[in-house]
Amino acid sequence: MRVAFLGLGAIGAPMAVHLARRHELVVWNRTAARARAFAAEHRCRAAATPREAATGAEVIITCLPTSADVESLLGGPDGIEAGLAPGVLFLDCTSGDPATSRRMAARLAPRGVGFADAPVSGGTNGAEAGTLTVMVGSEPVVFERARPVLEAFGQRIEHLGPVGAGAAMKAVNNALLAVNILAAGEGLAALVKAGVPARKAVEVLNQSSGRSFVSESLIPPRVLTGAWPKSFRLALLDKDVGIAVGLLDETGLGGPVLRLASELCHAARAELGEQADYLETIRLVEREAGVEIRG
Ligand code: NDP
Repeated sequence: MRVAFLGLGAIGAPMAVHLARRHELVVWNRTAARARAFAAEHRCRAAATPREAATGAEVIITCLPTSADVESLLGGPDGIEAGLAPGVLFLDCTSGDPATSRRMAARLAPRGVGFADAPVSGGTNGAEAGTLTVMVGSEPVVFERARPVLEAFGQRIEHLGPVGAGAAMKAVNNALLAVNILAAGEGLAALVKAGVPARKAVEVLNQSSGRSFVSESLIPPRVLTGAWPKSFRLALLDKDVGIAVGLLDETGLGGPVLRLASELCHAARAELGEQADYLETIRLVEREAGVEIRG
């Protein structure tokens, strides 16, 4: 199948590697050198513009920071729409917002384009392994067409409802991730300050009811070791929690816990900057407590 992939970022690039193995792939990236380097290494071609990438494609996949970034690539003489053939499948793997997803789907529908918001979960490791969870919002018929394409990098591919449902699911997932990071950081900082060795505290937590994905899979290799690898920008997590808060507003719910998580992520982003990794929020907790969670 002829597939166009736009957005070779931290998670987009390993997703595109899987597509290059199965499909006739064309890649586009805002920083063109990144797309050229990718094409030199993998079986695919680099396009100079979104229009060129879209031309001749049967499937278009985008993976950019925000829905607004994707929407900004649609129009104009070099935009995606200028190259679109009728009947194309448009899969937006951005962790986006439901309202913009619905607006893009409605904009593309008169051209016979089937749109799905299809954000992913599983991190850069999951993208490399091809084991991502894909959360799809689309018409059922679009989902059936999308599934075999998404299987290139996804292990669990779930249809959650109409356009926007995938983005909503992903935002709530990441809001809960943020809550877990913040809470685990606070709890562990208190334990270390009280004299409990950090590694022992994490081990006991992971055999008890307070454990989470964060305490089991993120804190041991990244925080206890002091490795702090960069895999997912805090700015993107902050964006996701903000989308979840938008969902609370839309549905008329108070949601004090998620709103506080959003405020804390926002403050951490302002303090640590646009390139900080999401787990570095724990560094702020450490700094405030005057301890390090290592061991
Ligand atoms: P990165 O910040 O690593 O990469 C972003 C990509 O988007 C780059 O290719 C960048 O191009 C491009 N880009 C940024 N702004 C624009 C713009 N205005 N127009 C066109 N291209 C643009 O992000 P990730 O790859 O980490 O994340 C992409 C999406 O996937 C986000 O929605 C994120 O929330 C989600 N996600 C990320 C995960 C992760 O572990 N990293 C996990 C699950 C979901 P350039 O090279 O020019 O900067």
